[in-house]
Amino acid sequence: MAIKRRESKKIRVGSVEIGGNAPIAVQSMLVNDTRDVKTSIHQINRLADAGCEIIRLAVPDKEAADALTQIIPASPIPVISDIHFDYRLALQAADNGVHGLRINPGNIGRAEFTRAVVAKAKERDLPIRIGVNSGSVEKTVKEKYPDDLVTQLVESAKLNVRLLEAEDFDQMKISVKASDPMDAIAAYRKLASEVPYPLHLGVTEAGTLKRGIIKSSVALGILLSEGIGDTIRISLTADSIEEVFAGHEILKSLGLRKTGSDIVSCPACGRCEIDLHGLTGKVEGMVAKYDRIYGKSPLHVAVMGCFVNGPGECERADIGIAGGKGKFFVFKGEEKIARIETEAEALTFFEAELIKSYQGDTSLKNALHAKDIEEIEKPLDSDELIMEPVSG
Ligand code: SF4
Repeated sequence: MAIKRRESKKIRVGSVEIGGNAPIAVQSMLVNDTRDVKTSIHQINRLADAGCEIIRLAVPDKEAADALTQIIPASPIPVISDIHFDYRLALQAADNGVHGLRINPGNIGRAEFTRAVVAKAKERDLPIRIGVNSGSVEKTVKEKYPDDLVTQLVESAKLNVRLLEAEDFDQMKISVKASDPMDAIAAYRKLASEVPYPLHLGVTEAGTLKRGIIKSSVALGILLSEGIGDTIRISLTADSIEEVFAGHEILKSLGLRKTGSDIVSCPACGRCEIDLHGLTGKVEGMVAKYDRIYGKSPLHVAVMGCFVNGPGECERADIGIAGGKGKFFVFKGEEKIARIETEAEALTFFEAELIKSYQGDTSLKNALHAKDIEEIEKPLDSDELIMEPVSG
């Protein structure tokens, strides 16, 4: 079922469009010291390779703002500077070539400081993200709506939207991040109905790898399924690569992006007689490698732990592998194209066929080896037959 997205104003962060009918962009943030230019460039490239489309860097001081002059020309993706407290750093970052500015209205200080940032953004043709956080809402807003975090987040955002609009500025996107997924959902829903600008979704301080991904998937899954959200960042206390991976998987699960191949694998059970986790890891590694090479033709790949559900799942996949009792089958769609005894040989064959699939070669004749044809035509052993429907 296709999701109908909320209509938002389209803006641009460097080469990436946000909002309108643009694909929902996956962002991340560097965790290293921005002043360490070499590490910053290395990390940005690593994240870009993993599918990060916009990167944000903390700019806590003048030295970090100066480092941008070396980092930005070396970045393959647009760079956003993250500014807290000192608006002058936003001005400097803009002059040093960033593609967008994120300011936290809760700590940027007086309205005139925000106006100065807007003037610079106009001069440099840059978008601004109004990044409201549950941990740092303005004192005045907090006092006006005590004990109502959702209203605080939304009102803080709207206050700043009005400030930017008063300067005749509309190149903005907004985030209202809360650490509680239900607060984040409520705040984004409310804001989505009240402003026309694109929304940057996230759950702040979501936590460690597993907890963070679960909280973010719940909140963002609900919002995105309602059509709300134009760009996302999954905040994790983990390697930022995981943030990018999680972001793309959430979008793929909702059918909102088709970046990268989809791998289905069974959870394994008592019927499994192979090292399914090891096999899936190896297939995942191959798919990640060839996704990078043949990025424009993502595949549906299946890895199954036995022949009960294996053939059925592989049938729906472009290519699949199922293993059991000293034999592995490689499938292309409904066709079993090879029956091979060892995992190593099966993976070698699978890799060659995977490459052909990426290249658009679905010809089974091309895939078959003479010896394989002979093997495949043997009737299945009784233990290979599907005896009963089992849920994988
Ligand atoms: Fe995997 Fe299902 Fe086979 Fe168990 S029965 S190994 S879960 S495919």
